[in-house]
Amino acid sequence: MSALARSLYGLRRQVSGRWPVLVLLLVWPMLWTGALSGAALWQARLPQVSAVALLTVALVWSVLREVSGPRASAERSAAAELELGMLLVTGVFVLLAATGGARSFLYPLAYAVVSFLLVVHRHRVVATGLLLSTVALELALGFNAGFEGAWTLTAYHLTFLGFFAAGNMLVLSSLVRRLRKTHVTEVEASLAQMRQEARDFRLIGSSLPPESRARSREEEELRMAHAAVEGIHEQLFHTLELLRTSMRLRSCVLLWCEQNGSGKLSARNPPTLVVKEIATQSEYAVEERVLSGPGLLTSLIADPKEVRLHTLKGKRLPPYYQGPEPVTDLCAVPLLDGASLRGILCADRIDDQPFSDEDAAVLNRAANHIRRVIEHERVFAAVERSKYEQEQFYRASEMLSEALTLEQVYEKTFCAIRTIAGYDLGVISVVGPGGEHEALAVDASEDEGEWASLASELQGHHWSNTRSLVSMAVKNRHTMPATGDLADPDAPVFGESLRLPKAKSIIVLPLLRGEQVLGAITLVARRGAVFPTATREMLRVIGHHVAVSLQNARMYQSMEMRATTDGLTGLTNHRAFQERLAQLHDLAERTGQKYSVVLTDIDHFKSINDTYGHPVGDQVLKRVSSIFTGRARKVDTVARYGGEEFVLVLPDTDGKSAEQLANKLREEIGDQVMTSEHGTFKITISMGVAEFPLDGKERLGLVEKADQALYYCKEHGRNCVRRWSDGA
Ligand code: GH3
Ligand code: MG
Ligand code: MG
Repeated sequence: MSALARSLYGLRRQVSGRWPVLVLLLVWPMLWTGALSGAALWQARLPQVSAVALLTVALVWSVLREVSGPRASAERSAAAELELGMLLVTGVFVLLAATGGARSFLYPLAYAVVSFLLVVHRHRVVATGLLLSTVALELALGFNAGFEGAWTLTAYHLTFLGFFAAGNMLVLSSLVRRLRKTHVTEVEASLAQMRQEARDFRLIGSSLPPESRARSREEEELRMAHAAVEGIHEQLFHTLELLRTSMRLRSCVLLWCEQNGSGKLSARNPPTLVVKEIATQSEYAVEERVLSGPGLLTSLIADPKEVRLHTLKGKRLPPYYQGPEPVTDLCAVPLLDGASLRGILCADRIDDQPFSDEDAAVLNRAANHIRRVIEHERVFAAVERSKYEQEQFYRASEMLSEALTLEQVYEKTFCAIRTIAGYDLGVISVVGPGGEHEALAVDASEDEGEWASLASELQGHHWSNTRSLVSMAVKNRHTMPATGDLADPDAPVFGESLRLPKAKSIIVLPLLRGEQVLGAITLVARRGAVFPTATREMLRVIGHHVAVSLQNARMYQSMEMRATTDGLTGLTNHRAFQERLAQLHDLAERTGQKYSVVLTDIDHFKSINDTYGHPVGDQVLKRVSSIFTGRARKVDTVARYGGEEFVLVLPDTDGKSAEQLANKLREEIGDQVMTSEHGTFKITISMGVAEFPLDGKERLGLVEKADQALYYCKEHGRNCVRRWSDGA
């Protein structure tokens, strides 16, 4: 028996998923031959009857499998759905065929099945497949009918099927859309409720609306608050449930007072009471969180002291019941936060047992305990928040310490600040010794629009307005303004010419380094309250990190400058020249571009030194170098090769053009009148030119050839230019 069951099971697994094919193979020939269409079922011959029986078994089997199996729910695949649908459709059509074909009294079943399948379908392809098979079966029925007007009837049927299908599709899609919308609203409402609760418990500083924070910080706060709220609710419920069972209470409820408007809580300005947690045996406890009014608790709100009522007799009810509850006794104790009423702990009974002093004391202690639970969670949330802040600082300082150049410092600064506060415009400015400011880096939240154009206007902007907010922050060495709000949109923040009329929040952080003020970071936002106290504190610390990084980057920059520049002339020094030449040479080798090297030497320079003194010699070197740099293009390199020798590297220039330029320089220098204590004098220079790749393919060989050409000049009267290719 078990072997048979196993083999049946094996067979079932084999054919599983191929039911539609099998069924169609069984049904279609029957429909085509019309074996069942004309005659009643019991008149048909045995093979057809057993085929229908088999089909029915298959149908029931498949339906049961779909409904009861673990695959019945979410993960039902399109194939399985198609299989079930096909079975239903073909099953119905077999029934129709058996009971009179197109004129069957069961015909409405076809509409019903199609409607049903279109409403429950999950995959569009399945719905289309089912519709097409229905149409095909319908046509088969019509083809088989064999009576007059059969095609007209089939056409009617198809039209109706079309109507049903379209109608259901429309209803379904609008239903789905509505359901989705409701779902989104519900999620938003529960999020809002969670936020409200977090604020009620003061887990989020109530003065800091979450939407005022940068996204990441807001998310972090929400995450922490969410965990804390859940923790509180769990503890609250256990406490209330413990009280309810140990004190034989009907209900034990914690109500929260939500202040209406800005006035103080009082009988005249009653708070809205909200059910925070409830432990009850009653079926009539209110389902809404917000109570319609304080009712019996009015006196406690007016004077936050314990209230005990023994005369209720089930007639007067606490406000948290919405139906008849035979409450006889009520004890309500205030939950105070300092002097102000935050909530009410209520306990009631239905068995005419008054609350004793001892009971009231227990409830008061419980209220204190609840207060402490909330307090603990608040501290916990604060610890979590400071942990998060520490992480931010760590990440910011890590980022900033990686920044070596000034550009990197600017970029990392904005990057670090963006994780803490959402600003629309960020400006890093430096201040000179005379109090003149310069905006060195600007970052805007948008790529185009007002803030973007303001940003481009600010880039490189100079101002020395002492009344500007930035100047004041720098002068006072204090974060400005005190509140983080831009009280007067007309107040100058940078220079006189720039105004920020759309800004509501602003913060200027001076960049302090010991006694020195390097500049300031200014952050501006169009929304209000973007820089609340906690954010300002964090930004202040980040400001210190930025100041350190800025100074380091400046130091690094000047060190690099010194390592690559000649101190006397400000030109590239010999080492840096070799590096640049190597780079250019590699590039030229790759791209096949030409370049020329021009080596220069001042004629009889030793005698200038000897005649006019070394300082005058230095002045000559400076004058010559400034003439070189004045004539050079941006891509050219002018370097001091050593002593009174200079070298020019001219990319994308052949020897002829280099020779022309050299002659111009030679003439210009020759025209210069040098002055000294011992009178005026003129100088001349000699220059040698070599071209890559014409004169040589090796970098060092090329310089050597320029030197040979220069030597040729020295040998042939000086004050001239010589190309190596012309013979040297
Ligand atoms: P020639 O026309 O053959 O080049 O004659 P010259 O006198 O220029 O030849 P030489 O290269 O021997 O002389 C270079 C002199 O440049 C020697 C050195 O005292 C002077 N010199 C090198 N560096 C400096 C510098 O930084 N300042 C000054 N004032 N003189 C320098
Ligand atoms: Mg020399
Ligand atoms: Mg010389």
